[in-house]
Amino acid sequence: MLEKSISTPQELAELVKGRRKKALHNRVNRRELKQRLQHDALPRVTLSFYKYAHIADPKAFRDELYEGWDALGILGRTYMAHEGINAQISVPEERFEAFKTLMNAYEMFRGIRLNIAVEAEGKSFFALTIKVKDKIVADGLSDPYFDPANTGTHLDAEAWNRLSEDPDVVIVDMRNHYESEVGHFEHAITPDVATFREELPLVADLLEDKKDRKILMYCTGGIRCEKASAFMKYKGFENVFQLEGGIIEYNRQVQQKGLENKFLGKNFVFDERLGERIGLEIIAQCHQCGEPSDSHTNCANLYCHILFIQCDACKETLAGCCSEKCAEFAALPAEKQRELAPLMTFNGTQFGKGAYKAFRKAGGRLNKLE
Ligand SMILES: [Zn+2]
Ligand SMILES: [Zn+2]
Repeated sequence: MLEKSISTPQELAELVKGRRKKALHNRVNRRELKQRLQHDALPRVTLSFYKYAHIADPKAFRDELYEGWDALGILGRTYMAHEGINAQISVPEERFEAFKTLMNAYEMFRGIRLNIAVEAEGKSFFALTIKVKDKIVADGLSDPYFDPANTGTHLDAEAWNRLSEDPDVVIVDMRNHYESEVGHFEHAITPDVATFREELPLVADLLEDKKDRKILMYCTGGIRCEKASAFMKYKGFENVFQLEGGIIEYNRQVQQKGLENKFLGKNFVFDERLGERIGLEIIAQCHQCGEPSDSHTNCANLYCHILFIQCDACKETLAGCCSEKCAEFAALPAEKQRELAPLMTFNGTQFGKGAYKAFRKAGGRLNKLE
């Protein structure tokens, strides 16, 4: 499926030109793409990157990038907006140099940090999609004078460790509560929020009287803090710093350079694992019995599916469900479930976005079977 090898920008330009007439969207269905990829023995590099920049015409840039990437056999999911780009892709190993050449042809991508996934097998994507969106990170802001590209000072793990020892700094976790509950930096403020857009103004208000202090912000992979640090500067904070590449990159540098680890517990991630252990301590409790646990799970009743923390003992007693009601329901035949579902209310349907918070505050006892 891939043609000859490419080593110079000219060759790449030729290849792209030759494909110019091809469709800019994937028209093959997902199952076929999946099958095709499974038969495709090409080793792939899975990576992600993001960049806040000023993109005048996201639609045109999207089409241009799609052509270039498609020609290289790149797969993945990418979002583009006026404020920048957020990409998760897999690149055929033999085209990796060509990919870098293509990226370097754009000013905005020069010197960009590519987060290469270590254990990924490169089979996580089956198609290439690049979507134009309003924002790459939803923030609820509409002021045209707010510039997300005007970020705080970036810190690597070593600089972060050094600066965070200063008793005068304020460390802020810019993730949602369900993330910080199972892991966070020592002495960090962990706001009780369910969304980033809720958190931005809240943090600025919270730190209103600390404008002279050094503010250190962090999140999972860095993309939220780019914006959060810019927002703090926009709000008049002068000494704003952010952890470059987030907890993921921090952990990598700590391991690689043998630095002291200041992150406690688990880093919550949105894949099957729902978390990666960084510190050995367990800092959270089972939402059902209160015993120490930091294992997130989704309620095994698919019509509920609420996210919560459950220890092994409770998992066994309730068959992985958030309540007895869900456990009884999940034990019914699938057909019966489909029939009854529209008439039922579970924890996950009851609270919408606030579900996790409501469930946690009630100690996992919202929905007991009467
Ligand atoms: Zn428990
Ligand atoms: Zn449930």
